[in-house]
Amino acid sequence: MNIFVLNCGSSSLKFQIIETDLDLIKDDKDRTLAKGLIERVGSQAIISFQVEGQPPLKQAAPLRDHRAALNYVIKWITDPETEIPGIRSLEDIHAIGHRVVHGEERFKKSVRIDKEVIAGIEDCIDLAPLHNPANLKGIYAAREQFGPSTPQVAVFDTSFHSTMPEISYLYAIPYQTYRRFKVRKYGFHGTSHRYISYRYRKLTGKEREDTNIITLHLGNGSSACAIKGGNSLDTSMGMTPLDGLMMGTRCGDIDPTVIEYLMHKEGTSIDEVFSVLNKRSGVLGISGLTNDMRDLLDEIKEHQDRRAILAVEMFCGKVRKYIGAYTAEMNGADAICFAGGIGENSPEIRKKIITGLDWLGIELDDSLNEQAYGGKAMKISSAKSRVEIFVIPTNEELILARDTLRVVLNVPRIW
Ligand code: AMP
Repeated sequence: MNIFVLNCGSSSLKFQIIETDLDLIKDDKDRTLAKGLIERVGSQAIISFQVEGQPPLKQAAPLRDHRAALNYVIKWITDPETEIPGIRSLEDIHAIGHRVVHGEERFKKSVRIDKEVIAGIEDCIDLAPLHNPANLKGIYAAREQFGPSTPQVAVFDTSFHSTMPEISYLYAIPYQTYRRFKVRKYGFHGTSHRYISYRYRKLTGKEREDTNIITLHLGNGSSACAIKGGNSLDTSMGMTPLDGLMMGTRCGDIDPTVIEYLMHKEGTSIDEVFSVLNKRSGVLGISGLTNDMRDLLDEIKEHQDRRAILAVEMFCGKVRKYIGAYTAEMNGADAICFAGGIGENSPEIRKKIITGLDWLGIELDDSLNEQAYGGKAMKISSAKSRVEIFVIPTNEELILARDTLRVVLNVPRIW
């Protein structure tokens, strides 16, 4: 089956066409036939398309909304010159899988999209005002372009964390706020943490029930997850993705009093303070230079900038703190798995994080650590480390495609 996987952000559209079926999944041979990214939807968009095994194609075009962007993608896919293996017309695409950021408590797993599901996703907009409307735009546009006979499936960032117990997901505020308004931790990056856990099992031959690991998705957005018995036990993002680790531009954990204090001192609105916490904090806020970790590390090499060093130390320190907390919460973990743009590609950051954990008997193999970047899944801990360490490049699109297949075929868990 050819699955069109769609991830719509507020001004972006990312897609992949993935060939998958039950046999391909069993052999782990699902295949990405084509992929693409459109950024700056709403103005002069920057477009990048790629057919498997061919060089990427860069373009620019004015695309006023997600509908126009999807239309552009479909024109490219069905253009006879594009030559995606097995795809000649839209009929060769058998289902569509959408990434949806917030599924609140109602969507505990991936579901086929119908009117009721759309209404449910709309109801979650209050909790994800930036993300869910963009995801819905993708759903509306896909229905229009592909027609009602092509099944569409929603895969939620939150659903992997629906196994968290109350002790993890409740905030220590009056219980009524949870009962009345569903104020609680939901967690995000669920498809990524789920994929990392799956790939860890494949690498080690472990059963799902025996999977006790800490997964670290470290990118521009970052989160940690404690996975016990194969399920999410706790995660660092909260009711929204602002909580937890220090990120590229988000502050992570913060005393809520800071918000009121800043409004008072700066004479600004609550919206402005939240804009600072979401867009001008984290690594960018501390360094004053950039949210991009690679650029920051280069800057340190060249100029030894004090605040750039501070930002990196704080970023790594916060990850270490969560590893310590989760190790305690889980009564010990078998492995720590790094993923995300930073986790997958930066031996330096991984080393900084792990070096502060030697008291737990967690040790890197420096040479293996240096070799792990650019998409390689491998173990990087030393032979005598008490906890294994892995780098596992994430693949959220694969989870989206496989879940879409599972829902369309109506089969239970298949991997
Ligand atoms: P993501 O959001 O997962 O795409 O990750 C983006 C982040 O990964 C950015 O901060 C990049 O600078 C960072 N990144 C990518 N490659 C490297 C690298 N080789 N070293 C350090 N950071 C990197």
